[in-house]
Amino acid sequence: MKVNRIVVWLILLIGVWFTSFRLPPEDLSNGYIKTIIIDPGHGGKDPGAVGKTYREKDIALKIGIELRDLIRKYAPDLRVVLTRGDDTFIELHQRGKIAQAYKGDFFVSIHCDASVSTSAFGSSTYILGVNQGQERYRSYIRENQSVLFEENYDQMYDGFDPNSPESYIMFRVMRNVFRQESMYLADKVQRNVETRLQRKNRGVKQGPFIVLWASAMPAILCETGFITNTDDEKFLASETGQVFIASSIYRAIRDYNHELE
Ligand SMILES: [Zn+2]
Repeated sequence: MKVNRIVVWLILLIGVWFTSFRLPPEDLSNGYIKTIIIDPGHGGKDPGAVGKTYREKDIALKIGIELRDLIRKYAPDLRVVLTRGDDTFIELHQRGKIAQAYKGDFFVSIHCDASVSTSAFGSSTYILGVNQGQERYRSYIRENQSVLFEENYDQMYDGFDPNSPESYIMFRVMRNVFRQESMYLADKVQRNVETRLQRKNRGVKQGPFIVLWASAMPAILCETGFITNTDDEKFLASETGQVFIASSIYRAIRDYNHELE
């Protein structure tokens, strides 16, 4: 059973690596978004990061719903699907299955960052990739720890342990087929954070996020701000903050599509 799963993983990884050669480097013409999957992180028994007053799962859901509503209102031609619309726990691999079942063109996962340093603040957007090894906060470890809430997670992910560096070795041979599209949208989100929201732009980064890998499509993960920072938490928990963040992501999606038209 276990050997079979390892074989499946290897075939998948080799497939991703092989097909990456077939993508023309500057071609985003297939990147037009018709169906977007919005993925509010965590939920149910998995609270995500916890601030002084608020929980990541609640903020992520509110921003996700706000983003869905903005898209429905201002871009009605765009089909939008939420991986969760209430306080339900959804396994990471299941989020990927939902995205594929709805034939998503893009996957946007919404999260809040956290750090032991309460002075850390600002927002980052991640794409799938090998960890560059320069980050202090290792967001991907924290986000991947969501699998620890899953039943049988070690079987489901072949003994993957989010806390063990060895578990990330497989990502070194992986190449993100959707890197260009993902980078393009991530960059737009971060530009909006800086210019429209006038908030600290921590940049576009990459990391081995299981949920981005599981989506198997162009995908970004927005760390919308630090729930462990007093000012960021206040902003993230406020209705104004949530609308601002959702609109900065909405504008990025809208501009992405306009530029490909
Ligand atoms: Zn998270």
